[in-house]
Formats: sequence, C-alpha cells, structure tokens
Amino acid sequence: MIKIDNLLIGISFASVLLVSLYIGVYYNTDTYIENEKEVYRAIAHSKISRLHKVPILLYHNINGKGPYSLPFDKLKNQFTQLLNNGIKVISLQQLESHIDEHSPFDEKVVSITFDDGYYSMYTMLLPLARSMSYPVTLFVYIDAITQGGSKSLTWKLLHIMQKNNIDIQCHSYTHADLVKLYNKGTIDSRYQLYREIYLSRKVLELYLNKNIVYFAFPYGRYSVELTQLCKDAGYKRVFSTDYGPNIVTRDNFCLRRHHVKSSYSDEKVLSLAW
Ligand SMILES: [Zn+2]
Repeated sequence: MIKIDNLLIGISFASVLLVSLYIGVYYNTDTYIENEKEVYRAIAHSKISRLHKVPILLYHNINGKGPYSLPFDKLKNQFTQLLNNGIKVISLQQLESHIDEHSPFDEKVVSITFDDGYYSMYTMLLPLARSMSYPVTLFVYIDAITQGGSKSLTWKLLHIMQKNNIDIQCHSYTHADLVKLYNKGTIDSRYQLYREIYLSRKVLELYLNKNIVYFAFPYGRYSVELTQLCKDAGYKRVFSTDYGPNIVTRDNFCLRRHHVKSSYSDEKVLSLAW
C-alpha cells in the first residue's frame, strides 16, 4: 500500500509540474511564441477586415458638368474596373441582410447609389447597369418627378427602370435641408418634415407599387433626431454622405456613402472600393 501511495503522489506531483510548466510557457516566458501569435492575429485580422466592411459609392448626374457629375465614359471605366478587380456589386437589400445577421461577406463587395433622379438615369445609367448586371439603387425626390420638364424622369420611366433591376428609393419630397427644417421647430416646419420623410415614402409606394424602405438625406444633412424620425416613419436604413465603409457586424441604421467627385481619378475610386 505504501508503494502504491508513493506512486500516486509521484504521479500527482509530476502532473502539477507539467501543468505549471505548460502555463509558464504559454502565458509568460516565451516571447517568441507571443510574437508568432501576434503575427497570426495580424494576418487573420487583415484577411477578415475588408470582408466586414462594405463601401457604398454615391453618384449624381452623368453629363460631365459640375464637381459631382461624371462623363459617361468615366463612369463606365469605374464600373468596369470593379469587375476587372473582382469586386462584386451588391444591392442595398443584400447589404441590409448581412448587417441584420452580422455576417461578413466571403468576397469584396461594394454598393452603388445615385441621388436625385436626373434624366440621364434613364438614358445612360439604365443601359450601363443592365449590360453589367449591376443592382444599383436610385434615390429620387418627388418634385424631381412631378415638377420636372420634358427632360426629366417620369413615373413611367421609373417603372421601366424598376423592371430592369434599378432599385428606386426615397430622397425626400422637395429636397429640403431637413436639419434647418427641424431646427425651425414650428408647427408648419413639423408638417413639412412629415411631408419630406413620411408622405414622400407613401407617394413612392403608391406610384411604384412596392415597399420603400431606404431614405437618403438631402445634401447628406442629418441628426440623431432626424434619424429617429425616419425610423419612426418605417424606414429600415437611412443614408448619409459621411465618408468611410460600413461595418456589417455593427448595428448600423445610418449608413455611410462616399460621394464620388468628377475630379477623382479612376484609381482613386478603385481604392475606395478596394
Ligand atoms: Zn440630393
């Protein structure tokens, strides 16, 4: 019995010694192991970080006039270089579902949006996006459709675009500065806010026969209060013109978009999507 007891004590002692040694090496002593772990952490981080981030590009008119209107050929080059560099264009609905599930993508993706509702959306964007099968989103404001001249979009043209995979969403009623309107704080300005945020949505839903769930702030002007009003009005996401990508593993209600200037080189635009 004494021999067996001694053996058990010996085994226990050896086990404690081994565990202590293991803990010592793992946590404290070996800086080489720590450095190696850092390297692997950095590699893992750099690999997944872009897959967690989705840049959204914002364009306006396509006529080469003004700081935010690209000529058609330049826009086409920028669209094509995304394809050539393996960057997939996804719809805002796909982006929304990944954010809701907090799930990263397994390839580089980008979303493309256009604001306001210029006639060139029908004559130039539609054939380009269609030829490349890019699911782009167009944010229109109601007055651009109902008060435009002969060279403006109509409900009929929006219907044609919608049938061809252009997603139409809301960009207010009159394109007013909503921060200014909110700060006025009068009964009249409150009614106007209701019209810009809520009624505009209902008009689009009536004419386009679909749910409108995204709102882009005119001039990119927004506040916490306005964001809350949009949430109350039933929007699922709102869009600013703040630069930077969107992290899909965070609860983003207000998404950033990078406004592409006509002065940007194609390389710069590729770097925004890269
Ligand atoms: Zn606008």
